[in-house]
Amino acid sequence: MKTLNNEQVREMLLCAAQAIIDAKPMLTEIDGKIGDGDHGIGMELGMKKAAEALHNLPDGFSVNDAFKTTGRTMMMSMGGASGVIFGTMFQGGVKEIPVTSEIDGQGLVKLFRAALDSVKSRGGASVGDKTMVDAFEPAVIAMETGKTENIRKLLALAENAAAQGVENTKNYIAKFGRAKSLMERSLGYQDAGATSVWIIFKAMHEYTAGIKG
Ligand code: ADP
Ligand code: MG
Repeated sequence: MKTLNNEQVREMLLCAAQAIIDAKPMLTEIDGKIGDGDHGIGMELGMKKAAEALHNLPDGFSVNDAFKTTGRTMMMSMGGASGVIFGTMFQGGVKEIPVTSEIDGQGLVKLFRAALDSVKSRGGASVGDKTMVDAFEPAVIAMETGKTENIRKLLALAENAAAQGVENTKNYIAKFGRAKSLMERSLGYQDAGATSVWIIFKAMHEYTAGIKG
């Protein structure tokens, strides 16, 4: 699969939204171990609102509009640190690609690289700080170094790298969010936000695996 058109991007983002909504109990449980247990609640709300907004995009919307609407809606509806962080995951790279009704693999990688850089500069976290960056950064690097133009393969690489990133968070001491106060006691537990990143890439991959091309 070489390109996704605007409708396919909308469908892909709706799949990611639904996967997060379905994972709410799991995300809440994970955040409850070392955070305040609200991650699933916030993400569910943000993704429900994002899905509504995606359904309401005007005719002739661009790929950029779909990502921007998702991110902006999450930011506005979720509030707090994770609203900004996850909103930026979708919105932060939109300006780095030309306005388009169709995106190819390189475009997608460029979009997520710019989004990752934006998340890092806004949130200040690096790999090893036990945040969503621990899944997002390896996912982006796996796509950049993947030597394939095929979107399905790129997203498979991202999903696997994010899964490994989630595993890695168990070995890290939290430096951000409420888990920070636990210090060493956060060891052994995976990060909730990193888990969300993995779920998002998994759902996007599964969507592309289900379409021909
Ligand atoms: P809160 O921490 O306000 O309760 P959530 O529970 O919704 O928010 O989200 C927590 C997740 O947000 C963490 O698991 C972590 O992955 C992510 N996170 C928190 N702060 C940052 C940051 N500065 N940079 C990147 N991700 C962050
Ligand atoms: Mg929380």
